[in-house]
Amino acid sequence: MARPLEATIVLDAVRHNLAVARACASAAKTWAVVKANGYGHGLERLLPALAAADGLALIEFDKACALREGGWRKPILMLEGAFDAADTALARAFGLDLVVHTDEQLGWLAAGATAAPVRVVVKFNSGLSRLGFDASGLRRAHAQLSGLPGVAAVGLMTHFANADIAHGADDAIERFQAASAGLAGERTLANSATVLSVPAAHGDWIRAGIMLYGATPFSDRPAAALGLRATMRLHARLIAVRTLQAGDSVGYGSTFTARQPMRIGVVACGYADGYPRHAPTGTPVTVDGVPTTTVGRVAMDMLMVDLERCPGAGVGSRVELWGDAVPIDVVARSAETIGYELMCALAARVAVRVEALSALRSGD
Ligand SMILES: *Cc1c(COP(=O)(O)O)cnc(C)c1O
Repeated sequence: MARPLEATIVLDAVRHNLAVARACASAAKTWAVVKANGYGHGLERLLPALAAADGLALIEFDKACALREGGWRKPILMLEGAFDAADTALARAFGLDLVVHTDEQLGWLAAGATAAPVRVVVKFNSGLSRLGFDASGLRRAHAQLSGLPGVAAVGLMTHFANADIAHGADDAIERFQAASAGLAGERTLANSATVLSVPAAHGDWIRAGIMLYGATPFSDRPAAALGLRATMRLHARLIAVRTLQAGDSVGYGSTFTARQPMRIGVVACGYADGYPRHAPTGTPVTVDGVPTTTVGRVAMDMLMVDLERCPGAGVGSRVELWGDAVPIDVVARSAETIGYELMCALAARVAVRVEALSALRSGD
């Protein structure tokens, strides 16, 4: 028998969340951000649910080329641009749009100027200070790129440092607007947090990532309150049940000790599956639909749960680690991380089932 642990990718939920993003910014086009293998969901699996996106945005050139070979015809934006001259040539050959954030990338584009034209998006540093030009660099790069015969169109972008905080993007938006004033080209500024909360940042193209995957970009607003649905469920089963006596400890390091006799269950899921090792005793789960919590330290292949509230539970009982009843964001917060990290960390050894798209209902 297969190990009783399975992730489910819910394509209806992805399609719904994309519709939420598009409704938030109905005047803009939508880049569906699918880097990191579609935030751990499996990029190829997601494509049927992303048909309404105007383009896909990612980092990885091998994945982008595979998308083209698989028949994706709409735009593809490489969010970090080319990593070398060969990538620039790949972009021309495969029709990939390139972010340009360094003079080196500019140089590779200038060198191949007679080849097939490529569309580019020049990036402004509005305060994140990882990638992008300052204001004068932006204008210089825009002018240079606009003059290259090998460049078909020049867009403008920035990426926010504090989009998840109320008014956290205000300064950055102003800086971007000042730096790009008068320059021709489509604008893209908004990640999920600003798609959801800052219409002034919507521009010509939004870049929706985490919201497509049903997790919140905010620390204080749950995904359900934003109208988002869980797209990844992680379910396992109990492989053992035992009764601890008062004073018995469970798990490595004996971090949890029973105060009175109690039943616990052993779940077929551990940190080698992507469940966070730092989730402490008390992290929410459900067992046969009943809310309860983990006890003791998460191990490589197992974790333990309190069955005191689940008298009917036994070997084979179904455990939701995250999904509809246990939001991934709640587990993430308990482990002092974010939903992004948990979904990206789903391990390759976990079996994945895809819940196919249903026929569209009105409202989807
Ligand atoms: C990942 C990424 C996004 C998407 O951000 P979310 O917070 O997941 O919506 C947008 N823009 C850039 C440049 C990115 O790298």
